[in-house]
Formats: sequence, structure tokens, C-alpha cells
Amino acid sequence: MDLRPPYPGYLDRLTKSLTHALPDNGPPPSHFAGVPERLGQAISAAVERRAQDIVTLSHDIHAKPELVYAEHESVRRLASLLADHGHDAEIGVFGIDTALRATARGTAGSDRPRVAILAEYDALPGIGHACGHNVIAAAAAGAFMALADVIRDLDGSVVLYGCPAEEGGGGKELMARAGAFDDVDAAVMLHPAGFEVSEHPWIGVRTIDVVYQGLTAHASMFPFLGRNALDAVVTAYNGISQLRQHILPSDRIHGIITDGGQKPNIVPGRAAASFFLRSVEPETLRELCDRARTIFEAAAHATGTKLEIEWDPVPVYLPVRNNSPLANRYAQHLVGRGRQVLPPGVIPDHLTASTDLGNVSVRIPAIHPTLKIAPADASIHTAEFAAHAISAEADRGCVDGAIGLALTAADFLTDAALRQATRDAFEDGGGALDVDALLA
Ligand SMILES: [Zn+2]
Ligand SMILES: [Zn+2]
Repeated sequence: MDLRPPYPGYLDRLTKSLTHALPDNGPPPSHFAGVPERLGQAISAAVERRAQDIVTLSHDIHAKPELVYAEHESVRRLASLLADHGHDAEIGVFGIDTALRATARGTAGSDRPRVAILAEYDALPGIGHACGHNVIAAAAAGAFMALADVIRDLDGSVVLYGCPAEEGGGGKELMARAGAFDDVDAAVMLHPAGFEVSEHPWIGVRTIDVVYQGLTAHASMFPFLGRNALDAVVTAYNGISQLRQHILPSDRIHGIITDGGQKPNIVPGRAAASFFLRSVEPETLRELCDRARTIFEAAAHATGTKLEIEWDPVPVYLPVRNNSPLANRYAQHLVGRGRQVLPPGVIPDHLTASTDLGNVSVRIPAIHPTLKIAPADASIHTAEFAAHAISAEADRGCVDGAIGLALTAADFLTDAALRQATRDAFEDGGGALDVDALLA
């Protein structure tokens, strides 16, 4: 049988709808004055002056992909670019070898308000920078350096955080636990994609590893003595498959069997599986996990086996709480760069994934817009997307994105009404969550 992708009708219609949405429709307006115009122009010019260095950083990180918590060369290159421009950066902060911090503060006054600009630089096994985190690092570095140039004209301070291990290590959660965001008032970052939106429902994800213990026996001679752990995994897998029809459209469940036994003539005494459970709100994520847990337990009962569950061998990734006042400012700045930011609702909610920025966004106001560097049907986490991540479009994106992040941060630091609206929106969204207690 031919192995081929499904009929492309759905994807084609989606791609067309994105194209048609572009000409007359923009992102929601922002009603805030933001950064004074001349200061904004100085910030944009400060990014433009460093465009070549920013793009070089993007390509250098791309050329040497490093996996979660092993991003030594990538973080060193980021620190070295900052040093070339006169900024001290500390590597190994918050108890993580490959986390970075650089701070810019004015000569007088308070450190507050304080904005964090977040960089990522980890890659994926086998396919390198297929999530384009090299672009994130470059844009964040550019934004930080431009803001540092004008820091005397801004209130408060700016901190650049190099955040390791987004691809499954939960680096931002570990940094948050170590206090990285305790004295920060807002965080901004961007993520490359095939489309440009300022807000999107990025969903949370929990990992559940299950191990069933049964009783081994000769599968032919003494099967009645066995208790089959693989049967338990299969029962659980089928139960999860049945659950899938009756969950929220935004929920996602995917799993693999990691141990299915040793040999057909040995009744498996051990079998194991690993599942990702995703949902759009912390509360619905908790509900989904409760329903899954019931299925895993039922499979143990049904097969007479014993169940061990390990939740979250890596930290939970919480759903992103988008901060609209800040996201709208970012969108306006990207439109100002001649880019076409899609209005809300054009990208279907179910085209989504998870990020540990979610864990930041329930502690302080945050944004996670996407930056278009590829065609709309290009999927992240593919070799094709890794190639897009150093294309001319990606290089332009590094500069435009740096300007968008820098101006948004400057808006926040100079416009007290925007700061208040940002805070109000955060409180309306539920305020700061106690992440430890949330899923206990
Ligand atoms: Zn990714
Ligand atoms: Zn990513």
C-alpha cells in the first residue's frame, strides 16, 4: 500500500483562508500611546544598526544544534555577542548551566518596572533547529541591546533571560522556581511559525508515564498463572482512544508503548507506556488528567495487574495566558514594519502546541506571538522548517521581531496607563497562580 499523506483539501482550504484574510483585516487596535515616537525611532535604529550581528547569531546557533540543557555553545555565542556590544552576561544562573542573564538599568531611580525579554536556543534530536529557536535567541538579543542603548530614557530596567530546554525540559519553570520572575513585571518573547498572530491559545501539557506489573508465565504451558501487563497497556491505550471522542475540541492526547514485553512465549510481567495530555486551561487540563487516570486504573483492575503512575517526569507546561494589551502593542509594531498580522480567529484554535512560556504567563503578564518565517503550511518540528529558520525571510524576521519586542517593552516601561491595563488584564485572567498547588 502506498504511504501517502491524506487528501490535501483541508490544508489547502486553510492556507487559502489565511491568504484571503490578509489584505483588509489587521490585528485589533491598541488604544495606548506607548513609547514616545522619537524614542521608538531610536530603538528601531539601534536594532537596524546591529542587523548583521543579530542574523549572524541566528545562523551560528542554527549551525550547531544542541539539545535540552546542553546548549553550551549556543549560550556562549549569545553571551559573546552581548560582550562585543559592551554587555556583561552571566551564564549558569538560577542553578541551570545553560541559563543566561544580562541586565540593563538606568543610572538613577528604581529597577522597577522591569521587563524580561526571553531567548530560547535549544534544538531537536535529529532535525536540528526545526523549531527555529535560533530566531528567538537572535530577536531577543537584538531587542535587549537596543533597549540598553536608550535605557536612560526609560523607566525601570530590562533583563534578558536565556531560557534553556523549551523542548521538553521545562527550563522556564525551573527558572521560575528559582525566583527568576519574582521581581519582573512583564515578559515578552516571540516564536517563529508559518503565520503571524499576536495571540493564540497555546495549550498546556502534562506527561504521564505508566508501568503495569503483572506475573510472568509460560504463555503456552501455564498461561493461567500469568497476569498480562501488556494486556493492561493495550486496555488502557484503547480506553484512551475511546475517551478521545468525548473530550474538548481543544484537548489532545497522544501516547506510545515504551515496553511491550520480552518474548511472545513469556506472558509480559512488565509493560509501560507514556502519554501527553493537553488542554487549553489549567482546570480543563486537570479534568482531562483525572479522566485519564481513571482509565489507567481501570485497566489494572481489568487485567489483575498493578499500576504505577509517574506524573510529569518533566515539569507541567501550563496553557499560555496571553496578555492582550501587550500583545496588541506588539501587533501594531509588526504592522509598522510592513508585516501582515492576522486578526484573531483566522488560525483555528486547534492548530496549537505547548510551551513553557505558559508557566511564566500565569505568574506575570506575558506574550508569545508568532513571527512568520515560512509558508503557512510549513509545520514546525520538520527538517523543512529547519531550512526555513535560516532563510532570508527568517533573517528579516529576526530584525523585525527584535524591533517588535523592543518597542513593546519600551511601551510598557514608558506608558503607565498601558502598565495598569496589562496588570488589570492579568488579574482578570485569574491573577498569579500557585503553580505547585495547581495540579497537586
Ligand atoms: Zn518546538
Ligand atoms: Zn519552539
